[in-house]
Amino acid sequence: MPDYLDEVRETCIAGGDEGELASYIPELAAADPDRLAIALCTIDGTVYAVGDAEHRFTIQSLSKPFAYALALADRGLDEVLEHVSVEPSGDAFNEISIDREGRPRNPMINIGAITTHALVGDAEATAEESTARVIAGLSAFAGRELEVDEAVYASERESADRNMALAYMVRAQGKLQDAPRAAVDGYTRQCSVLVDVRDLAVMAMTLASSGRNPVTGEQVVPAWVCRQVLSVMATCGMYDAAGDWMSNVGIPAKSGVSGGVLGALPGQVGIGVFSPRLDGFGNSVRGVRACERLSRDMGLHLMQAPEVASHVLYGVVDPDGDDDGMREITLQGTMHFAAAEVALRELERVPEDGRPVVVDLARVSSANDVGRRMLREGVRRLQLDGHDVRVQDPEGVLDD
Ligand code: GLN
Repeated sequence: MPDYLDEVRETCIAGGDEGELASYIPELAAADPDRLAIALCTIDGTVYAVGDAEHRFTIQSLSKPFAYALALADRGLDEVLEHVSVEPSGDAFNEISIDREGRPRNPMINIGAITTHALVGDAEATAEESTARVIAGLSAFAGRELEVDEAVYASERESADRNMALAYMVRAQGKLQDAPRAAVDGYTRQCSVLVDVRDLAVMAMTLASSGRNPVTGEQVVPAWVCRQVLSVMATCGMYDAAGDWMSNVGIPAKSGVSGGVLGALPGQVGIGVFSPRLDGFGNSVRGVRACERLSRDMGLHLMQAPEVASHVLYGVVDPDGDDDGMREITLQGTMHFAAAEVALRELERVPEDGRPVVVDLARVSSANDVGRRMLREGVRRLQLDGHDVRVQDPEGVLDD
């Protein structure tokens, strides 16, 4: 893996050095434009990193999906949706993008993220409490105590006129819980948290692992929250380049103005890239290039579904061809809807001859709720038909 990632890094460099450093936050304009780091985190918490992996930079907009996750966990989906919508804006990240109901169009652009920051914590939380909870939450996603870069914070706070304008706009719409100054200060602190690419990869993998940090084992937010956050990342995470990104790379992702990109492929991998030169959408040029390459090489496109369903039948032994006179149906792999449907059709085919049926699940590696429900129902119906059904389930995949 490190050799492969080194190769990806080399091709990203060879691809050219287009793009510009962000300059509207004075402190960011001082970044070394040539730095490039790439990290991957696997489902079991193994982290691979190459390039300037020790270099820390401010998280900026990469914090937005995590603050959104915390707001969802604290307030629930309905309340958050009352304040911030989930539609792609079609505008730049710092535009006044509000819908007819006065809601910011999504939580991945500044106007939505400032609003979301103020929703973290309970309804009585002060602005300071929301910010403290956001920083602690980002740390839980990363699995270590994160700090704020006070110099970047001060630099952005001083030049935050545009974000102040956005905050006043949402406040006027009745959607901002805190006073504009306090909300922007808190949001700016959130953006000034220091991370490296390993942190990004672990944070991304936590989202991709239904909210469980793969390194610390902590359940940071509930699973439903991650599904919501990843969906919004997929449609809005790369700003106005989201469509191109989704068709080309196919990984729910988020970019930030300091040059970070993170990608979270559900159940598979968390990616963190850092390279400060940005394209016209505000996305890191080499960050995008690295993700394109990783997606292509490793088949990570979300829409490229693995064909598992048809392999679910490992074997079927007919009672007449077997010494013990039992019908044995052996299933394998992952039991989700499509696989369970194939399995049910096989159970359906069992003739009503009253002979015992063995349903062997020893080779089934995992099942989701739907897969479990469908299989249980299939077994129940065989029993109703008068069969003695013996389910062999040594790993207890049907139990949960
Ligand atoms: N802190 C930055 C801002 O509010 C974040 C924007 C970004 O990373 N795209 O402008």
